Amino acid sequence: MQRRYAANVTPTGVATFFKAPLVEDFEVLGDKIALLGVPYDLGVGYRPGARFGPRAVREASTRLGPLDGKGFFDIDAGESRLVGAQIVDAGDVDVLRGQLGGSLDAMEDATRRLVDAGAFPVLIGGDHSLTGPAVRGLAAKGPFGILQIDAHLDFTDEVMGTGETSSSPLRRAAEEGHVETIVQVGLRGLRTPEPAYRAALERGNVLITREQLRNEDSWVQLQQVLSSMNRMYITIDIDALDPAVAPGVSSPEPDGLSYREVKRLLALAARSAEIVGFDVVETNPMVDPSGATAYVAASLTLELLALRQAAAEERSGG
Ligand code: MN
Ligand code: MN
Repeated sequence: MQRRYAANVTPTGVATFFKAPLVEDFEVLGDKIALLGVPYDLGVGYRPGARFGPRAVREASTRLGPLDGKGFFDIDAGESRLVGAQIVDAGDVDVLRGQLGGSLDAMEDATRRLVDAGAFPVLIGGDHSLTGPAVRGLAAKGPFGILQIDAHLDFTDEVMGTGETSSSPLRRAAEEGHVETIVQVGLRGLRTPEPAYRAALERGNVLITREQLRNEDSWVQLQQVLSSMNRMYITIDIDALDPAVAPGVSSPEPDGLSYREVKRLLALAARSAEIVGFDVVETNPMVDPSGATAYVAASLTLELLALRQAAAEERSGG
């Protein structure tokens, strides 16, 4: 798709993800990388606003685009990364006003249709509820493990009779027959429900707290467990990062991960297994006045796409 103008100046052009072309017809996507917005936050228990997350990440990501197959130059690597990648903005999931179940079904359906089209799905939230439906929509790519980077376990069975809030996405994902090992990293805070913790351990999830991640032994353990996966889904809750780095989230927890630590986790994951899709959730522009959190979300999205491509090239000897 040809642009009428270069769109090189950041504020120029329509604010799609990374200034990629907008392709809302899933049938014509082929094997492209499809960035899908999920403007939904009915699942949060605290501060709403993540429904505006996809818009905010689109806006922030224009600073990093357009990529146009040229990728981006990385001063640390001394070379361009993500060269040749075909990225599209696949629009948004058509969430339904006030309808929890219908909205979650729409997320699952959209993910499945992206997979059926042959595209690589990247969901930009939106609150963390979307991970359950996304994992269900990815059933055809199973079996796979899950790497969750998050301050919170999100493994609560039900909150007041509802099992599809942002407190439960990994619990729902764990119930799917095509989901194998779940690794939960960055856990911290003073509000962890003990039943969720016990249930996660009982299922055999690998839990690595923020504090444990300061120990190199945890990285060795991570490397072993991630390498044991053939395929993996990654979910990045942006509140895993320290509130000083990513303040714009519904439920911030002090003493979070640095950007560098998350990058290191993603690099390890990409080297260890084939990634079947990922999501970046919980960016809440209503409490992100500087836009810093949205820019972190956009940057990590690009990092993971580049790491995935580099690992795939390495595997194929390219
Ligand atoms: Mn969280
Ligand atoms: Mn979460």
